[in-house]
Amino acid sequence: MSERKLPKFIICFCTGECPGFAKLNLWKLINYVRNELDVEYAIIHPQLCVTDGDQFLRDYLKQGDKDSVFIIGGCDPRMQRKMFKDVFTEKGLDFDKQVVSLDLRNMETEEAMKKLAEAVNKIVGG
Ligand code: SF4
Repeated sequence: MSERKLPKFIICFCTGECPGFAKLNLWKLINYVRNELDVEYAIIHPQLCVTDGDQFLRDYLKQGDKDSVFIIGGCDPRMQRKMFKDVFTEKGLDFDKQVVSLDLRNMETEEAMKKLAEAVNKIVGG
């Protein structure tokens, strides 16, 4: 029996100090995603676009893992692509096919929940 592959959710919370995320209740959002949505798991990173974030992605991504789908919540998808594409390529993954980038800046928590639910449902066909 083939198992349904669930997306893995990573939220980049922009250090926790960025005004763009001031309206977002991080814990409410992450617990909603991990408990209510069809994801494999949900994790938080404080700043994916700096050296330790890069190092985290390098350790976290499995070499040649073409099956996983990642939802990354954070800043502008174009910025995310620019910042993360290389490490995905380096690990043999295809950023454009395997990553759904969501801009969660300047959103209320409920708005972000809705956006995430839509993204997950689109991936799992809910
Ligand atoms: S990747 Fe985007 S959301 Fe994350 S810390 Fe950098 S600018 Fe902020």
